[in-house]
Amino acid sequence: MSTVVVVGAGIVGASVAYHLACRGVPVTLLEQGAAPAAGVTRDSFAWVGESGRDWPGGAQDLREYVLADYRRLEAELPGVSIRRTGSLSWGGAPAQASRLGPGQFRVGRRDIADLEPNLRSPPDQAIHIPSDTGVDATALTHALVAAAGAHGATVHYDTAVTSLHMSGERVAGVLSSTGPHAATTVVLTAGTGISKLCEPLPTELPVAASPATLARITAPPGLVKTVVARPDFEVREVRDGDLLLVPRVEDHAAPLERAVQAALRRFRTAFHGGGDRCRLLGYRTGIRPIPAHGPLIGYATQDRTVYVAVMHSAVTLAPTAGRLIADELATGRPAPELRRCRPRTN
Ligand SMILES: Cc1cc2nc3c(=O)[nH]c(=O)nc-3n(C[C@H](O)[C@H](O)[C@H](O)COP(=O)(O)OP(=O)(O)OC[C@H]3O[C@@H](n4cnc5c(N)ncnc54)[C@H](O)[C@@H]3O)c2cc1C
Repeated sequence: MSTVVVVGAGIVGASVAYHLACRGVPVTLLEQGAAPAAGVTRDSFAWVGESGRDWPGGAQDLREYVLADYRRLEAELPGVSIRRTGSLSWGGAPAQASRLGPGQFRVGRRDIADLEPNLRSPPDQAIHIPSDTGVDATALTHALVAAAGAHGATVHYDTAVTSLHMSGERVAGVLSSTGPHAATTVVLTAGTGISKLCEPLPTELPVAASPATLARITAPPGLVKTVVARPDFEVREVRDGDLLLVPRVEDHAAPLERAVQAALRRFRTAFHGGGDRCRLLGYRTGIRPIPAHGPLIGYATQDRTVYVAVMHSAVTLAPTAGRLIADELATGRPAPELRRCRPRTN
C-alpha cells in the first residue's frame, strides 16, 4: 500500500492526515513546531459559514459542503464543539450589497438589539446570517491530529522539512531536520512555507503571504452573542468569557499596539459592560497563505508523487478539503468537486 507523508500540521494538514488515517492509509505527519497549529491557524478568527465571504475560484464548488462537514467532525471528534451563533455585519461590503445571497437576511435596529442586546447603539441595518458559526481553530487542529494518531497516523514534531528527496527524476519522500522520510506521495500543507518546498517542481504556485492581526480579550461571558463584523473590527466569543478581536490594521509597518488599542477602545464603547471588565490578553500577527485565484489542491507533478493543498479561509474549508483529498489519494479517482482547484504544472 502507498505511504503518505504530510508536511505541516496546521488545520489543513491535520484534516488531511485525519481523513487519510480514517481510510486506513499509512500516513506520517511532519511539523516543524513543537505542537499542532504552530503556524497561522493559531491566530485565526475562525469564522465559519457557507453564505457570506468571497469564494474565489474552486472554493465556490466546496461551499455547499462546509457546514455538513463541520457537523460530521463534531460527531466524530470528542470535545470539538462549534458555536452556532449566527453573524451580524454592517458598514462593509456585504452589508451594502443590494442583493442578498441565500441564507442572508437584512435586519433592522430592533432585530439587531435582540440578537446583540449589549450593543449600545445598534445600527439602522445589518446583514444577519443565522447559519454562521465559529470554532476554536487551535483546539480543532489538536483534536484532528490526536484522532489521526488514534487511527494509526505517525506524528513527528520539531521536524522541519528542508527539501523534497529526489531519487533520480522522482520524488521519493522528504529530507528533514530529523532525517529522511520515504513516501509514495508527499502532501505539502505547509501554509506559507509551501512555495519554498515546491521550488524544484514545474508547478506554478502563486501564493501571497498576507498579514492579519488577532487580539484576545477576557470579557464577561455572553457579552457578545454573535459574530459581529463592523468596518473597524470583528469580534466573537470563542469560549465563555474569551473573545477574539480582529482590528482593522491599515499599515502593518506602523506600530501594531496603536491599532489594537484603538480597536479595543471602540469595542469598549460599542458594548455595555465592555469597559472595566474586559482585559487585553495579547495579540499577534499571523501570515495567511492566499493563493491568487482560489484554493490550489492537487498533484504538483505528472508522476503523482507530490500533492499540494493551500487555500485561504482554510479554517472554513479544511474539513471538506481534507475529506476530498483523502478520497482522491485513497482511491486514485479525482474528486469532481476539486476540478477547479488544480495547480498548473508545466
Ligand atoms: C487574524 C486572522 C483571521 C482569520 N480569520 C479567518 C476566518 O474567520 N475564517 C477562516 O476560514 N480563516 C481565517 N483566517 C485564515 C486561516 O487562519 C488560514 O487560512 C489557515 O489557518 C491556514 O491553515 P494552513 O494549515 O494552510 O496553514 P498553517 O496554519 O500556517 O499551517 C502550516 C503548518 O506547516 C508548518 N510548516 C511550514 N513549513 C514547514 C516545513 N518546512 N517543515 C515542517 N512543517 C512546516 C507550520 O509550522 C504550520 O504549522 C484568518 C487568519 C488570521 C491571521
